[in-house]
Amino acid sequence: MTYISVNQVSKQFRRRGQVTEALRDIAIHLEEGTFVSLIGPSGCGKSTLLRIIGGLETADEGEVLVEGVAPLEAQSHKRFGFVPQAPALFPWRTILENMRLPFEVNRKGGRQTPEQTEEAKELLHSVGLGDFLNAYPKELSGGMQQRVGIVRAFASGAPILLMDEPFSALDEITRERIRYQLMEIWDSHKKTVVFVTHSIREAVFLSDKVVVMSSRPGRVTEIVDIELPRPRRHELEETEEYLQYVHHIKGLLRERWEH
Ligand code: ADP
Ligand code: MG
Repeated sequence: MTYISVNQVSKQFRRRGQVTEALRDIAIHLEEGTFVSLIGPSGCGKSTLLRIIGGLETADEGEVLVEGVAPLEAQSHKRFGFVPQAPALFPWRTILENMRLPFEVNRKGGRQTPEQTEEAKELLHSVGLGDFLNAYPKELSGGMQQRVGIVRAFASGAPILLMDEPFSALDEITRERIRYQLMEIWDSHKKTVVFVTHSIREAVFLSDKVVVMSSRPGRVTEIVDIELPRPRRHELEETEEYLQYVHHIKGLLRERWEH
């Protein structure tokens, strides 16, 4: 059984008589424990597809199955962790208290166990935030806050993480650093990640598969298997093989723009 399967999914939005065809005939099959990126121009339906996989939006046609069940059912079993563009941290709570949120929201009597609190602390340490456990979000830079959002998803217990351009608000240097940290955390946790990005280099570095999409309507142009060795460290980005993947995907995206 495929872990997550997206079968011929189409989606239209109707607003004030205007119809936007957001997705057409999307078919993707993802294996458990893999890292998959969705890449494509703005408006090609990446967020919509991510939301359909996570049960936050419904498809007009086609079907999504997550661990053999519909996304809404998977969601009710707490199978998803979301990482949005801006980290949703409560300003009146400390960083460690914010790490508890996924255990409280939508969980009957949910609380972090002492082991889970320890894991949350370890994850914060691993991304250089060990000195900020009791700080408030406003004392952290944007990049630091985003790291909290990411490690919180890893600490949440959900096996599938859906990340929608989590690095888009960061400067290039911070963004690279967080990319390498995300890779190290993923190496040790092996969750299934669906990651939306605009950055080709980021997608190739992180992923097992890159789904290249075209816009209006959003379709799959090609699914590129990234057969680079793991664990991946930043030196990889200097290798010929890595650059060939980047070049190939750039070409796929450029073709679409020229139409
Ligand atoms: P991306 O994340 O790739 O930038 P989106 O999934 O956000 O693209 O949007 C795909 C298309 O669907 C866009 O044309 C967008 O304007 C449209 N769209 C997205 N959400 C809605 C909505 N709730 N209502 C109407 N149109 C929407
Ligand atoms: Mg989007």
